[in-house]
Amino acid sequence: MSDQPTPLSAPITRRTALRAGLVLGGALAVTAPTAAATPARRSPLLRSGGKSVAIFGGGMAGLSAAHELAERGYDITVYEPAFLGGKARSMDVPGTASPGRANLPGEHGFRFFPGCYQHVPDTMSRIPFPGNPNGVRDNLVRVEGTVAGFQGLPPIFAPVELGGLSQLTPELVQNSIIGALGFIPDLPPHELAFFAKQMVVWFTSSTERRFGQWEYVTWEQIMQAEGKSPAYRKYLVNALTRITVAAKPQTSSARTIGTIGEALVLAASGTIPQFSGGVDRILNRPTNVAWIDPWVEHLRGLGVRFVMGQGLAALQMAGGRIASATVSGRSGATAVTADHYLCAMPVDRAVDLLDDAIIDADPRLGGMRNLVTDWMVGIQYYLRRPTEIPEGHIAALGSPWALTALRQAPMWVGDFPATYGDGSVLECLSVDISDWDTPGILFGRTAKECTADEIAIETWAQLKAWLNTGTDWLRDEDIHSWHLDPGITWSGGAIHNETPLLVNTVGSYDNRPDAHCAIPNLYFGGDHVRNHIDLATMEGANESGRAAANAILDAADDPSPRAQIFPLVSLPAFAAAKAIDADRFRAGLPHLLDG
Ligand SMILES: Cc1cc2nc3c(=O)[nH]c(=O)nc-3n(C[C@H](O)[C@H](O)[C@H](O)COP(=O)(O)OP(=O)(O)OC[C@H]3O[C@@H](n4cnc5c(N)ncnc54)[C@H](O)[C@@H]3O)c2cc1C
Repeated sequence: MSDQPTPLSAPITRRTALRAGLVLGGALAVTAPTAAATPARRSPLLRSGGKSVAIFGGGMAGLSAAHELAERGYDITVYEPAFLGGKARSMDVPGTASPGRANLPGEHGFRFFPGCYQHVPDTMSRIPFPGNPNGVRDNLVRVEGTVAGFQGLPPIFAPVELGGLSQLTPELVQNSIIGALGFIPDLPPHELAFFAKQMVVWFTSSTERRFGQWEYVTWEQIMQAEGKSPAYRKYLVNALTRITVAAKPQTSSARTIGTIGEALVLAASGTIPQFSGGVDRILNRPTNVAWIDPWVEHLRGLGVRFVMGQGLAALQMAGGRIASATVSGRSGATAVTADHYLCAMPVDRAVDLLDDAIIDADPRLGGMRNLVTDWMVGIQYYLRRPTEIPEGHIAALGSPWALTALRQAPMWVGDFPATYGDGSVLECLSVDISDWDTPGILFGRTAKECTADEIAIETWAQLKAWLNTGTDWLRDEDIHSWHLDPGITWSGGAIHNETPLLVNTVGSYDNRPDAHCAIPNLYFGGDHVRNHIDLATMEGANESGRAAANAILDAADDPSPRAQIFPLVSLPAFAAAKAIDADRFRAGLPHLLDG
């Protein structure tokens, strides 16, 4: 072990350590427990009395904030220009229902609820659902395994849980990762061991190093991909990152990927009481039926008003605060006034509102303009015969378009053909395309360069190439139809995605807003707002909605209990190693095991 920084890691300078200290201010603010916290009195500058709240955006963040505030007696209006549920909504296929049945069910992207989620299940348990003692939460079902497909090799069914663990230590983490990923073909054993060791580096890195060093290097760098075998780079570093989100290992912050990776390993270990219910869960019905529709109905019951077809167009400032907002839509533009204004729209929309007056009032908000989005888009294939792919998630590891999928029909309640379409569709294979910039295998073009038909044909070809070696799981003749997210459109020769997703590029934490800003009655919600799980997910968006609700309660000096914020789990068995690492980081030394 050397005390010299490795060439691929960001050098730790006194400036880095100081920057870590500054950033940690924000990070620790995120981790502060708020459930039972006594509300602190605000400085008069941050105080903003009154209970009327205008929430702009009815996605996960907006609905979560509305839920918390409505339960505390606030007067809430949600302005939503398009669809409640946002990126988490279902989108069925218009015109496909025969009498007595519903349209074929589509999803914006199939929904994965890892066991490390705490905020989302908590919200779900507070949404009533007929026959469910724990509300909508009881609509989550456990998934036991994942099918991993490799080009030209037989697919493998791998369990998603790490069996036989009663506790976790650095050694056990390392051994479990080696055991769990041993199925990856052509991977030199010493490189798998190195990957597992680097994961232990992450597990035992101090908070200071996570924010001060790992935030500023890529996942590819922390995993030292350069010079390693193609299998190491393609599967361990690239595919395992890409299947989680639209993140690219060459640009993603090592801190973000490490954070979600650690949480998934802990959930898979089955040793963490807070992460109960299985590492991998899905809904047992379309997302809107299982969750979003009952949620909206519940919120209406709590008095929340929804104004559909209207989006925030501008914020007006006067006297250092937001004085009014302009919403616009099909029916024209209207001025809206409220005591508190919560921007819960996606970051690519929120930045349009940041005019000079707002940036002057809080210059840090200008950082939002540097945040990066990328594309992850759902496509569904409706099949006349059920495929024999085992139940659970499907990952075409190393496929050019980073494809992942889920069989929807077998894990849903009810008789699929009797419920949806014209009765001839027995199966829905829901696929996410997470790489839109790498040429495919059939047309040699990226997804962004293809037409809708070509996207459907190429995606199917990749799925077959990755899953059909030694199987006939995917048969052309079984395809009834397909449905690509209608948010993908073409005009003037260019392709457009209505709903891109935040990607956590190196150093992006510095540019992400907190739920509250220097303007006393302006708040931010959304997966781009700083949160514990960090990755752009429903969990992060839900936490941000809670944080915004708490900031409103703070600003109003409201004594109500705060919405619960759940920090990620930090294991005592790793505390000593982290403390040593904190000292080393402050002294400008690399992690003891890194190299
Ligand atoms: C294909 C795909 C698959 C995914 N799968 C998963 C998964 O399995 N698990 C997971 O946890 N996460 C998943 N995610 C991520 C997750 O869906 C998002 O991170 C989360 O839903 C974001 O919620 P949000 O409230 O921040 O934003 P959004 O869902 O985007 O909601 C924002 C809302 O604001 C509205 N809006 C836009 N402009 C305005 C305006 N001017 N005024 C007012 N409102 C406006 C939008 O219409 C939208 O309804 C997936 C994402 C994609 C794209």
